[in-house]
Amino acid sequence: MSETVSATGIAAWLRAFAAAVAEARDHLTELDAAIGDADHGINMDRGMQAVLAKLDELVAGGTGALLKGVGMTLVSTVGGAAGPLYGTLFLQMAKAADEESPGPEAVGQSPGREAVGLSPDPKAAAESPQTGGTPEAAPGLTLPQWARVLDAGVAGVQARGKAEVGDKTMVDALVPAAAALRAAAAAGLAASAALSQAADAAECGMEATIPLVARKGRASYLGERSAGHQDPGATSAWLLMRTAAETLLGSGGAAVKAPQDPGA
Ligand code: ADP
Ligand code: MG
Repeated sequence: MSETVSATGIAAWLRAFAAAVAEARDHLTELDAAIGDADHGINMDRGMQAVLAKLDELVAGGTGALLKGVGMTLVSTVGGAAGPLYGTLFLQMAKAADEESPGPEAVGQSPGREAVGLSPDPKAAAESPQTGGTPEAAPGLTLPQWARVLDAGVAGVQARGKAEVGDKTMVDALVPAAAALRAAAAAGLAASAALSQAADAAECGMEATIPLVARKGRASYLGERSAGHQDPGATSAWLLMRTAAETLLGSGGAAVKAPQDPGA
């Protein structure tokens, strides 16, 4: 298992998330039927199938280009509230990933780097983990870098949807997951353990949406009647974090047990 996050690991994650969404499609739609308009599973499945169709092409561009392509695909195919929000998550992650470790495209598009003396020494540049190259040669993002990438994505979702923790949305799963990953990275945990803790935090956040009264999105139209139901977007966000723990480091999931996987 790798300790860093590469474009290949992200592709494995997206495949696993697409499979998890397809499997949970009816469940997500039932959750949305209770407090929304019964389309969340259908929307997410349509979006992730569109991502799968482009995945091989996207992964060749490296981490930033891959995340950006996913975000744009989700914006244009998912629809509803979740499309722009999940799209923003990935688009902001793409931007942050490029800042952490410019990929082949980003390096190629930065003629100013040499001019301002950022990489004057070719030997240092060759050894620098910040330098791009082919997706295969790219060193991948370290856990602290990946934690910052997720943070940026989640901040983007909040900027776009204006939801806070407690509003009964996907934010209730995403914010604790990003915080757990950040804390685990700061504590020096192994990446696999950190991703597992992030998934656990997302699961707790998802479950915590059940008693809440929705204050954002379609469910908020129900007022008090939205209480007693788990939020569909928080549920898909947990699937996103759970599949990350299972696949992002390229282990195929064997070393990271899915929290409360009913099949396990
Ligand atoms: P729609 O509500 O337009 O039918 P979906 O059913 O696909 O879209 O997605 C609903 C989910 O979107 C909700 O369960 C909630 O988690 C999430 N959501 C809705 N509004 C917001 C918001 N402002 N911020 C964050 N998440 C939101
Ligand atoms: Mg809906």
